[in-house]
Amino acid sequence: MNNHDEFLAAQKLIPGGVDSPVRAFGNVGGEPFMVDRGEGSYIYDVEGKKYLDFVQSWGPLIFGHADADIERAVVQTAKKGLSFGASSPLETQLASLVLKNFDFLDKIRFTSSGTEATMSAIRLARAFSGRDKILKFEGCYHGHSDSLLVKAGSGASTFGNASSAGVPQDVAKNTYLARYNDIQSVKDVLAQNDIGTIIIEPIAGNMGLVPADPEFLTELRALCDEKKIVLIIDEVMSGFRASELGSYGIYGVRGDLVTFGKVIGGGMSVAAFAGKREIMDMISPLGAVYQAGTLSGNPVAMAAGIASLSKIYASSDLYERLGELARRLTDGLCAIARHRGIALQTACVGSMFGYFFADEEVRDYDGALRADTARFAKFHGEMIKRGVFLAPSQFETGFICATMNETQIDFALNAADEAMAAL
Ligand SMILES: *Cc1c(COP(=O)(O)O)cnc(C)c1O
Repeated sequence: MNNHDEFLAAQKLIPGGVDSPVRAFGNVGGEPFMVDRGEGSYIYDVEGKKYLDFVQSWGPLIFGHADADIERAVVQTAKKGLSFGASSPLETQLASLVLKNFDFLDKIRFTSSGTEATMSAIRLARAFSGRDKILKFEGCYHGHSDSLLVKAGSGASTFGNASSAGVPQDVAKNTYLARYNDIQSVKDVLAQNDIGTIIIEPIAGNMGLVPADPEFLTELRALCDEKKIVLIIDEVMSGFRASELGSYGIYGVRGDLVTFGKVIGGGMSVAAFAGKREIMDMISPLGAVYQAGTLSGNPVAMAAGIASLSKIYASSDLYERLGELARRLTDGLCAIARHRGIALQTACVGSMFGYFFADEEVRDYDGALRADTARFAKFHGEMIKRGVFLAPSQFETGFICATMNETQIDFALNAADEAMAAL
């Protein structure tokens, strides 16, 4: 087996050869490798080549690939059946593990993807507020449902579509946009329009990594309180990633609804939305807001989530350690870039890190779009050659996992030094 032939075969049957667009390397050129397996910090392609993996399935694998505890939980649970379409106690167990330290969230419902979680949260927020109009921020990605695919980051920016073809104008017209980290831009929209819901990535990770200013989030919360707007904090990426309490642990800002995904499933298809009882009880079967899923809360996925969160709670210094490694990586990248005379901006929050080939600090989507993507593409290719897998787009976040150590980070930095020399 080789990467090229496998990718050709995939392209004949699957559009672009991929089931999620950014995997196609469209933004960096060249062909993606095809994965055979993962182990700890590494993935191996079908030719047996090994890569130090800073993608980690785009965030979920906080304990690295094929973690033994999560694997055991999945295998044992699978032996009892993969899905029942009836409730099992595992759902309640994971619910209590997710909500454990969030005293402002009473109830939660599981879905199979982050897209479903944010889509359902929007529907619920519209029902609760009684208003159709929503506001999102340029460059924030909340999955690929129609009303949220407006100036989304991530794969959508990779392909230069501010929004997607096929989204009815009638749907998109209810989605308003504001500028990240710019509270005045929010006030301007609210002054003109009867917005009922605001959704935000509290630590934007889908236009590259762009943390929110603390005052910005605090002011946003205050505006929502003042105008009775439902604030949805989308922690699908940052939840149990940026800190044990996600962005809440860093900024202390409470969402009326909070969405989770990625880490809470430990690598299986799990996401969720949670909120206060008065809002959550509007969902079917208690209330009039319909929401469902054949495989939602299936036992195998729940078991992976339970194993993952249990491991998180059992480790006292996990986030500190991950944060130190992320800092070592971004500090190292900065030093190399400075030495080589290359303009580089970096950020890290907990185990999330990002870097832009840009002259100025990136604070919003326009800033992200000013970064040098050609230089990024070259750098990415040079890193792949040296066995380091970074997200194949300037508009994504990198992730540190628990199996990583200083030696591995230094290996990546050594590769980065050679890669930057080649730019
Ligand atoms: C990944 C992501 C989503 C979408 O989740 P999927 O499981 O890919 O549908 C939504 N919001 C944020 C912030 C994300 O990072």
